[in-house]
Amino acid sequence: MKPNFNTFTFSGTNTAEIVIKEPVRSITLHALELEIKNVVLDESVYANQNYPFEGRTIKPIEISYDKKLQTVTFDFGVDLYVGKAKLKMEFTGKLNNQLHGFYRTSYKVVDKKHWGASTQFEATDARRAFPCWDEPDKKVRFHTTLIVPKHMAALSNMPVDVTIQPTGDEYRKMVCFKPTPPMSTYLAAFVVADLEYIEATDKNGVLIRVYTTPGKKEHGKFALDVALHTLPYYADYYKTPYPLPKLDLVAIPDFGSGAMENWGLEIFRETALLVDEKNSSASARERVADVVDHELAHHWFGNLVTMKWWTHLWLNEGFANFVEMLGVAAQFPAWKRRVRFVAEDLVGALHDMDKPSSHPIEVDVNDPAEIREIFDTTTYSGGGSVNRMIEHYLGNEFPKGITKYLDCFKYGNAATEDLWKILGKSSGKPVSDIMGPYTRQAGYPVIFTEEGSRNGKSILKLEQMRFLMDGSIDETYPLWNVPIGVMTPATVENPKFMYMKGRRMTIPRTTKWVKLNAGQSGLYRVAYSPRMWDRLTDAVRAGEIPEIDRIGLLDDAFALARAGYVSIWSALGLLDAHRNERETYVWAMLAGKLNGVASLVRDEDPEAMLAEYARKFFKPLVERVGWDKKPGEGNLEAILRGVALSNLGAYGDEEIIAEARKRLDAFIASGTLDPDIRQTVYTIVAQNATDEDFEKLMKVYDSTDMHEEKVRVLRAIAHVRRPELIRRVLNLSLSLKVRSQDTPIVLSVMAGNDSARRTEWEFIMENWGTLLTRGGGLGWISRVVRGVTEGFKDRSDLARVEAFFKTHSMPGLDRAMQISLQMIKSNMKWLNRNLRDVESWLTDTRVPLPASEQVSAPHELR
Ligand SMILES: [Zn+2]
Repeated sequence: MKPNFNTFTFSGTNTAEIVIKEPVRSITLHALELEIKNVVLDESVYANQNYPFEGRTIKPIEISYDKKLQTVTFDFGVDLYVGKAKLKMEFTGKLNNQLHGFYRTSYKVVDKKHWGASTQFEATDARRAFPCWDEPDKKVRFHTTLIVPKHMAALSNMPVDVTIQPTGDEYRKMVCFKPTPPMSTYLAAFVVADLEYIEATDKNGVLIRVYTTPGKKEHGKFALDVALHTLPYYADYYKTPYPLPKLDLVAIPDFGSGAMENWGLEIFRETALLVDEKNSSASARERVADVVDHELAHHWFGNLVTMKWWTHLWLNEGFANFVEMLGVAAQFPAWKRRVRFVAEDLVGALHDMDKPSSHPIEVDVNDPAEIREIFDTTTYSGGGSVNRMIEHYLGNEFPKGITKYLDCFKYGNAATEDLWKILGKSSGKPVSDIMGPYTRQAGYPVIFTEEGSRNGKSILKLEQMRFLMDGSIDETYPLWNVPIGVMTPATVENPKFMYMKGRRMTIPRTTKWVKLNAGQSGLYRVAYSPRMWDRLTDAVRAGEIPEIDRIGLLDDAFALARAGYVSIWSALGLLDAHRNERETYVWAMLAGKLNGVASLVRDEDPEAMLAEYARKFFKPLVERVGWDKKPGEGNLEAILRGVALSNLGAYGDEEIIAEARKRLDAFIASGTLDPDIRQTVYTIVAQNATDEDFEKLMKVYDSTDMHEEKVRVLRAIAHVRRPELIRRVLNLSLSLKVRSQDTPIVLSVMAGNDSARRTEWEFIMENWGTLLTRGGGLGWISRVVRGVTEGFKDRSDLARVEAFFKTHSMPGLDRAMQISLQMIKSNMKWLNRNLRDVESWLTDTRVPLPASEQVSAPHELR
């Protein structure tokens, strides 16, 4: 491959060793936006190998492209001989600026703009760089050669074998890499740029380097430490050595997703790899640890053993999502990474998988756009949560089974059922029966729970049904085998576990509170009777329920209130019982739930009362955590401070707003501001911004070269509330000031801004064509379209959104559009059902609803 940075093109040759199995006349490969010429099929190399011919070289009589199928076909006009052959192709392509295939990236070297090139092939874009059979089960050994300007670094999956001087080209060098093991095309990678690096060898002798553009290599130290810890940690966890001799982690200024696990050459956006000791926040550090450990996990799950087809993408992503938690938790125990998994991944999965149009974890996909669309929360966090559930079920047998699976399928491909079979065989437990329904059918169950008695004994009656967020019911939907962990005051430390196999089940009951799904180890919700909710609320107030279970109760309560299975009074009562809460992730959950209600009652009667309630709710927390770091504080305290201040500020506390302005001014004047509160300060200023405030924030944006700082400002200004500033931020998001990779950040953060929703939606409709070319594909557009539209709650908005979707439907977006419409309708229903109750609850939070108005199961449990 030879990139040309003057013309933004590249040229290359590809020689594929193939086996022709039957006498065909043509050969078809994947190729997209490539011009292919000088194609030769060389059958002579393998002459005399059992075939009745002397060998020959032939050229196609016609080369034809199919844009829709993204293929090229070479028609040779005669039957090809059965047997081995070499297919040689020369091709040229564009070094595009769209963050996929082989694409260009820009950076500064001593204030001068330079160009480099990087790759992003997953899922189906290797075909934009070279003609190939671009499917995960077509594994081959790559022998890569890059011809690049002499002063530039050239990286690929394997170490350099030899560098030579091409004849007649003084300006370039030819870098030949060692051959890779058999691997899928989407994992091939090249980077060509001005780079510097730091390096170290892990305890198993693997050379790890962190590469950055000039001037930033010191910011790679934290990531290097993380990799040095976790690469050997995984080798030990998987009981399988890291399969390659080296590992490079490269930060590239333009990168569409967070990072990519190319074998031996991981590529990251800068915010996912670089930490500046002076200016990075605690959450930025956590993000880097997460992403590095996530990509490292893939070298086994994904790279060594690859999914057979994209239907089983979750085997890659769900596993990496789960194992990244193990890696981070092992290195940074104080961060409570396992709790964060529940608060973010498990809860995220429950909300992504609860729509009538949600897809199953294993999902049929064909079109590249459909494949792109499933890189989503269900695949990552849903898959991760399913792994967490099976780990809980199997205990130590889980990693043992994983080792067997890796050994059985290494350098090959596997499907979901292969994993269940091996885990089942090695543990002796019915893994397929339990896990199969969770990955094959969309959604997850809700367990309705009611107290009763039978033969004079107190019992709990349980009944399962698919949970749908809008409360719709499908009694014919297949059931799950659900792990039921039962927690009572006596079993908090050691809950009892059993499996629910049919629709109904009864278990013995104690008189005090009972909480199911102990430790939130299962992927399901639990709906209790009103009396049981009351007892659980009292238990929360008394500090008897563990942290993870409090998070689970809160999320269940508000989701069930939306579906109509619990009153909004019960949900708000549970929230209110947390006034003495200490834990960061419970506070984050409380804030999220309150924001959700605030967004729904915006422009309605209770809006001001709710804001007042919220200010009272957060004020004591702010008084406790304060603005300034205390000696000996860790990440959790820093993150909690952000939650406290940003919420009190968002609900309009004047003191907080004034202090945020003061701190921004001081930062601009003196350059000092604790990185852990910068996001909060910028955001509060942006929410209340005058033109002058806005200019100050843009000054911070313009005067830094640190990507994390730029993103902080972009996230903040997505919160502006004045109409003219909203327009300004929207226009900025598509301007040259914002890298294409960061457009999605602005638009998706603004999607949560209630003041901006209508304007942003208009902007998206106006700029639809442009947006389709930004940020590296459709994946982010479906997220943004969903994010913006699913907050609407008016009939007129619903009609406008519906009309737009009708004329702009396309593969890769259709599901997001359906889900949006389902959400808008559910918002309207929520308002109808809950608006008056929210108001009355805020008026007097003490008076309980009359029993006749309480809601629970859709029918009497039997
Ligand atoms: Zn991944």
